[in-house]
Amino acid sequence: MANVKGAAWLCNYDYFLKLGGPEGMQRVKAALKPEDQNILNTLILPSTWVDWGFLMRFKILADKLLGKGDSYHVKQASIYTAQQALGGIHRVFIKLATPQFIIARTGQIWRQYYDCGTAEVVKQTKTGGTLMLGGMPDIPLYHEMDNLPYMEEALRMSGSKKVTSTQSKCMARGDDCCLLEFTWA
Ligand SMILES: [Zn+2]
Repeated sequence: MANVKGAAWLCNYDYFLKLGGPEGMQRVKAALKPEDQNILNTLILPSTWVDWGFLMRFKILADKLLGKGDSYHVKQASIYTAQQALGGIHRVFIKLATPQFIIARTGQIWRQYYDCGTAEVVKQTKTGGTLMLGGMPDIPLYHEMDNLPYMEEALRMSGSKKVTSTQSKCMARGDDCCLLEFTWA
């Protein structure tokens, strides 16, 4: 099972709590499958490993029940997570970083958040970079809605403009790896 750090879960949960309030969260919880409700009932600390599939199921359901179901809030919650993780005392550091530096450090960022898999830079230019994710065959479907907005926000925080991203290959869709492509100006 692909696991994500509780710290990422807590940021995502906080985003949706702000969006829907306690009443909205109760609605989301009631609509989850029993096994996912059980995960929600456990004590999740920043260092706890959480099933990434559960995180994605929660976010997609919360987006449907508290938003329009168009994935907007799935992505916004990831942007919020990046702002929480890379803002604050780290803000000076990220402001001084170049987009190339951030792309080059993705492998380290990956190890902070996930218990398996790797992220490697396979292409880098002055205005773009491609990351290859591997070694995580059970990566959850739609995981790119977590990874792409997070990385886009990290790039914007470093001063990059017109940031775009796309996933051209995906392990969750049967490919041998995931390819995440970024461009910026
Ligand atoms: Zn993928």
